[in-house]
Amino acid sequence: MNTVTFCKRCGNVVNTEYRYCPFCGDRRKSRTMNEIIDSSLSKVKSPVTPWRLVYLGRIEKKLEKLENDLEILLTPHR
Ligand SMILES: [Zn+2]
Repeated sequence: MNTVTFCKRCGNVVNTEYRYCPFCGDRRKSRTMNEIIDSSLSKVKSPVTPWRLVYLGRIEKKLEKLENDLEILLTPHR
């Protein structure tokens, strides 16, 4: 089974089959989705710095937009 990872350099989704990122050519040392989630969760326990709050706010905005997009997509057209 193929696993999808994210390129550490450009952030594109890269199949683990690739040794190099097909987007930016970086040597693929990307992390798996679970590793990203695990590390994100472990960071939550660390002290919250102002820049982190700003960043979290941005992510929240993006998620809100995605949620809206999803709602529009799932709303049946009449
Ligand atoms: Zn890349």
